[in-house]
Amino acid sequence: MSELASGTETNVREAPRSSRPLEVIGRSSPSNAPPEERYEFFTVVQGYLDRAASIIGTPAYVQSILSQPKNELIVHFPVRMDNGEYRLFKGYRIQHSNILGPYKGGMRYHESASLDDFKALASLMTWKCSLMNLPFGGAKGGIKFNPREVSRAELQRITRRFFHALGGNIGPDYDIPAPDMGTNAQTMAWAMDTYVNTVGMVSKQAVMGVVTGKPITSGGTFGREKATGQGLVFCIQDWARRNHFDLEGKKLMVQGFGNVGSHTAVLLSHLGVSLVAVGDHTGYLYNPEGFNAHRLQSYVQSHGSIAGYPNGNAITREDFFSLQADIFVPAALENQVGVTEAEALQVKLVAEGANGPTTPDGERVLLRRGIEVLPDVIANAGGVTVSYYEWVQNRRSEQWDIEEVETRLREAMENAYSRVAHVALNAGCDFRTACYVVALQRLQQVYEEREIFP
Ligand code: GLU
Repeated sequence: MSELASGTETNVREAPRSSRPLEVIGRSSPSNAPPEERYEFFTVVQGYLDRAASIIGTPAYVQSILSQPKNELIVHFPVRMDNGEYRLFKGYRIQHSNILGPYKGGMRYHESASLDDFKALASLMTWKCSLMNLPFGGAKGGIKFNPREVSRAELQRITRRFFHALGGNIGPDYDIPAPDMGTNAQTMAWAMDTYVNTVGMVSKQAVMGVVTGKPITSGGTFGREKATGQGLVFCIQDWARRNHFDLEGKKLMVQGFGNVGSHTAVLLSHLGVSLVAVGDHTGYLYNPEGFNAHRLQSYVQSHGSIAGYPNGNAITREDFFSLQADIFVPAALENQVGVTEAEALQVKLVAEGANGPTTPDGERVLLRRGIEVLPDVIANAGGVTVSYYEWVQNRRSEQWDIEEVETRLREAMENAYSRVAHVALNAGCDFRTACYVVALQRLQQVYEEREIFP
């Protein structure tokens, strides 16, 4: 199952086969909207950096270094498809910052992925890792194609050729990929296996930490699969405690029912929160009595989407956004909650499981209407935090039990939450800006201590 479920993909269909021997996949995509309608995700994230920098008086040179990724890598690599034809794929790895430690971040397989998205997502990883006090920088990458349109064997060959093409541009002490939308533990097992087979016999075991989010038997950690959802739930619990909001009996809406959305819904159901509406790339379903989140999760695991799930009524996207509920978890793509959705939402809290689901204009409307936002930088940071635990275990040849992982994650989330809440109160700013302030303070301090070479 993918790390995040897409909210805008088209239905699964057979890949059109090119009659030409080589073709660059995914040149046209749903995000090829007219320029004025295109969502400039990287510019949006830069805006958050600028806002935080002006609050804490960040030196101009630090701000300018952090305003662009250090490296933008694009690779093209051929793959033999099942029908014997060859196709050329386009892969990306954007390395935003490594001042705090190795570059770190997921690999996304999605047909609408663009350089602008990867730059935004890579910089988000820098802010996330800094905020969570991890010894990592930020990166993101992936391939522009729809993984639902290829066979498992093709997916394996695409993944192996991609990681082979990246070569020494990744490594356990340099850049550490992980799952993201369209990739999962299986993808990471292929990626790790490809990498370890390029480093020579004697180093094989030492470099298993080149990727995180691996299957447990292949060097993964307990708790990584549900980590993003678990971190989100710890964050929601913290918010609820501080706002004297009893979660028991409350109603939840989730957009995107992949790894993040489904684990969040299941974990919240254990706290008495009822999932009343759910949506993914196939449509939206409503059940006023509440879905059985466990059963829906297993259904999506075996069917690939919520389509055809028997216990809900089909509703439109518009209806979904105007439902009466308490918590909304966007766990699909970026740019989902604009002004229209923000005006329609009838909830008390938006907890961002996805990266960048709320637009700046959408957020302004939410805040004006008194709807609070737990921003992506903190809300979905549980994934990379547990990735760090996996990396540490790989380095030490250890296997921690699930209780240890969960205890550490809970503490890490609570600690980050209280630092952010403190800044939000003292600076009188919104929570997202406070997250960027906390993250930037750490980066700024490091630059001031180390200065730049030479
Ligand atoms: N893709 C996840 C994210 O966006 C996890 C990254 C990681 O574990 O390195 O945070």
